[in-house]
Amino acid sequence: MRCALMGILLQYKKATVKCSWKIAGCYYSTGALKPELTSIRYKTQRGPYATITDADIRFFDSLLGSSRVITDPYECETYNIDFAKTVRGASQLVLKPTSTKEVSAILKYCNEQQLAVCPQSGNTGLVGGSNPVFDEIVISMKLMNKILDTNKLAGILTCEAGCVLQDLDDHLSKVNLMMPLDLGAKGSCLIGGCVSTNAGGLRLLRYGNLHGNVLGVEAVKANGDIINALNVLKKNNTGYHLKHMFIGSEGTLGIVTKVAIQCPPLPKAINIAFLGLANFDKVLKTYYLAKRHLGEILSSCEMMDRLSIDVSINNLGLKNPLTSRKDGHEFYMIVETAGSHVKINFQTIWALRERISEGVLRDGYVFKYDISLPLSSFYEVVEVLRKQIRDPRIVRISGYGHLGDGNIHVQVSIPEYYEDVAAQLEPFIFEYVSKCNGSISAEHGIGFKKPKYLHLSRSSSEIRMMYDLKKMMDPNGILNPYKVLKPIVEKS
Ligand SMILES: Cc1cc2nc3c(=O)[nH]c(=O)nc-3n(C[C@H](O)[C@H](O)[C@H](O)COP(=O)(O)OP(=O)(O)OC[C@H]3O[C@@H](n4cnc5c(N)ncnc54)[C@H](O)[C@@H]3O)c2cc1C
Repeated sequence: MRCALMGILLQYKKATVKCSWKIAGCYYSTGALKPELTSIRYKTQRGPYATITDADIRFFDSLLGSSRVITDPYECETYNIDFAKTVRGASQLVLKPTSTKEVSAILKYCNEQQLAVCPQSGNTGLVGGSNPVFDEIVISMKLMNKILDTNKLAGILTCEAGCVLQDLDDHLSKVNLMMPLDLGAKGSCLIGGCVSTNAGGLRLLRYGNLHGNVLGVEAVKANGDIINALNVLKKNNTGYHLKHMFIGSEGTLGIVTKVAIQCPPLPKAINIAFLGLANFDKVLKTYYLAKRHLGEILSSCEMMDRLSIDVSINNLGLKNPLTSRKDGHEFYMIVETAGSHVKINFQTIWALRERISEGVLRDGYVFKYDISLPLSSFYEVVEVLRKQIRDPRIVRISGYGHLGDGNIHVQVSIPEYYEDVAAQLEPFIFEYVSKCNGSISAEHGIGFKKPKYLHLSRSSSEIRMMYDLKKMMDPNGILNPYKVLKPIVEKS
């Protein structure tokens, strides 16, 4: 009955949908026009998966109870669309498990029935990885949000994958610890999503990435097998470190259900400098001096060009702390140190940086490139793009990012998506990055948008091994299809 109803409801053509995220402490919501369907915009072919039947819905209802089986098209739509409104899937079913056992039973069933799934956490990913492409079943991890253990002495937190990053940080601060990662999306992203993308963020410079900080994970394979690799030891060299397969594999090898993570002590003092600079050469010199003189207390080193800061100021109404003196700076930096003095609240300065992703969306559609480049050619990519693409429809081409990690975010904004502008940008930018010995994805992952460019950052032997791993872990290819690796087209 529910499925028959769904068929009728699917005819609905509501042009808008309301989704909301919490970015740098503020709620960002959108009720604007829906993006075009991903399968149409990107001319993608559906894989050989089954379609959902009434019997499937009955099975999930009996497993989870109908309140955790979402079939209402309007509600499903918020899971189909990404934060930046660049992709839209057509899923008709969202499942909300509350335990590893339920995740296991869902995957076992889907694997047997050849039903494709798309794991989703906070849906803040920026490469279209967290949204279905066709009608994949969305497995939302939001209800698996229990903190399981906080070991104050060892600084180890064990929790379920659906805990919000900000909630974990708030919880840890009560015992003078903190999460080793911090990002603008912390109010919405979930730790399982962060682990699955190996998220970087603002503290990576000091605390390193999640391959180092995650001590163990529990994950469920495509066939429903539960892999208990929830190690909490700092040292444990006993065979293969299986946790790494799930860190950064973007939901294509398994679903992360629990995480044990090493958490550093909460610094007593955080000091921050907001600097305006005339040119990029001065930015590099300042970074060098900060590393040299601040040493191990340097916790963040971020840079933004003027056009990036403009979106926070002009589109979001935030205040530039430097405007009291006539500000003609072309670049800005935030340099943060974490040490042992009184803590000062610098949220307003950080908001200028953290809300750029949100602010630029007010320009319209944004092509976002998250790339690693050697510092010698770090900003050049923005200048090259400005020269290469002189299209009057472009609102701005800007660059900002984690200078201390050699990671720049390039944003090209236009009032709406135009295929011919996309064609001017890609593959040009990825090939340029490859020529400069950079990486086409520094931290956001490959997702749906970049599988065809993977060869520009990975050798053919690496890619072959990735396919071998995928085949071993998920022989039916039900886990997050069309993401990370290009689908293999079987020759008949
Ligand atoms: C304002 C803003 C700032 C950001 N800043 C940064 C930054 O500084 N650094 C950075 O690295 N990223 C950043 N991002 C990108 C994004 O927030 C991160 O990639 C984040 O880790 C995604 O977490 P999520 O919970 O939203 O996961 P989702 O977006 O829901 O999912 C991301 C991917 O992981 C998969 N996945 C999700 N949960 C699981 C699970 N439990 N098991 C297996 N697979 C799963 C999904 O299928 C998808 O492929 C930012 C995004 C925004 C909107």
